[in-house]
Amino acid sequence: MSQKIAILGSTGSIGTQTLDIVSQNPEDLQVVAMSCGSNLDLFETQIRKYKPSLVSVGTEDLAKDLKTRLSDIDIQIQYGMDGLIAVATSADADTVVTAIVGMVGVQPTIAAIKAGKNIALANKETLVTAGHIIMPLAKEKGVSILPVDSEHSAIFQSLNGERQNQISKILLTASGGPFRGRSYEELENVTIEDALKHPNWSMGAKITIDSATMINKGLEVMEAKWLFGVNLNQIEVVVHPQSVLHSAVEFMDGAIIGQMGTPDMRLPILYALFYPNRKTLYAEPLDLFKVGTLTFEKPDLATFYGLSLAYDAMDAGGNVPTVFNAANERAVAKFLHNKIKFLEIPEIVSEAMMNVDFISNPTIEQVLETEQITYDFIESRWQ
Ligand code: NAD
Ligand code: MG
Repeated sequence: MSQKIAILGSTGSIGTQTLDIVSQNPEDLQVVAMSCGSNLDLFETQIRKYKPSLVSVGTEDLAKDLKTRLSDIDIQIQYGMDGLIAVATSADADTVVTAIVGMVGVQPTIAAIKAGKNIALANKETLVTAGHIIMPLAKEKGVSILPVDSEHSAIFQSLNGERQNQISKILLTASGGPFRGRSYEELENVTIEDALKHPNWSMGAKITIDSATMINKGLEVMEAKWLFGVNLNQIEVVVHPQSVLHSAVEFMDGAIIGQMGTPDMRLPILYALFYPNRKTLYAEPLDLFKVGTLTFEKPDLATFYGLSLAYDAMDAGGNVPTVFNAANERAVAKFLHNKIKFLEIPEIVSEAMMNVDFISNPTIEQVLETEQITYDFIESRWQ
């Protein structure tokens, strides 16, 4: 029997690679629902190829446009947050792949878990901002949260058959991004194009900027804490420019177990969809002779202090991670629209964190409120 999946964000980097995995495994995977923001040309092609019965787009106008384009086929078309939730809770789906970007994924993810769906989680912002709600809810509902983020997939694979209380620490690897080795002063005038040139991975714009600031690694530290239940001081970021070791776990006896591979997101997607089984990935495997040398270094926390802010946010807890994430989302959008300079991204995050009205155990409504307050604060200071 094939596994039925719903995809939030099918037109993005993770979404298209998920569909590639579906194409490689047509007997085993079936797409029953999917959503996109606004790329209707690609979405229409995907719908005609994968034949889901329910789809959703960003706005009502886009939904009308899509209806006209698809007037020859029988399909349910929705839009906006209600549409995302409909896709996430689609009656037929066993697993929801959260390939949407940003905390807009929070409500659909929670709705999916409540509906008993397993989650193949790429959308890390959701865990950062609402991990304290999502993890207990998933446990209560008996659903699995399977990591798609490459580092977390590597950690998950390294923990197979191991005991959680015998972990000494998690070694979370980071490429260091396009600005590794630069000083703070050298980042003063970097452009959007410079920041979008990731050395090893081809990804959506938001996460590529997050990699350049190293705030992506900060989000991943928080993601790891929620997924693996370790203490914050047990998560160590290791800069590894080759992106071959995707992360590792050190155990009490000093053994370090990690997962290596080419930088190809289809492997973690495949693993999340077929866990605990492994399947053939039709791609070039890693050639260690070609790689030759692997190197490791400490992160430069003075230059990339957005990473330290993430530890501070997680340590503070409550709604501070929400502020960290929301401020970063808004700052990255402003940078991508040429409204602020690169170095203003961590500055905005830091200022927003200092401005927070602390709530120790925020409800989902308070999380969303905190998000809005953070946006308002930023708009009042940086236009
Ligand atoms: P992307 O920008 O390429 O794609 C995002 C998808 O979400 C698109 O389909 C877009 O249409 C949709 N979308 C965006 N905003 C929306 C909105 N407001 N309403 C409805 N749909 C919306 O992003 P990506 O690089 O694929 O990243 C997706 C998630 O996966 C992010 O959370 C990212 O951090 C995470 N992730 C990505 C990679 C990667 O290699 N790309 C690796 C690890 C984790
Ligand atoms: Mg990652």
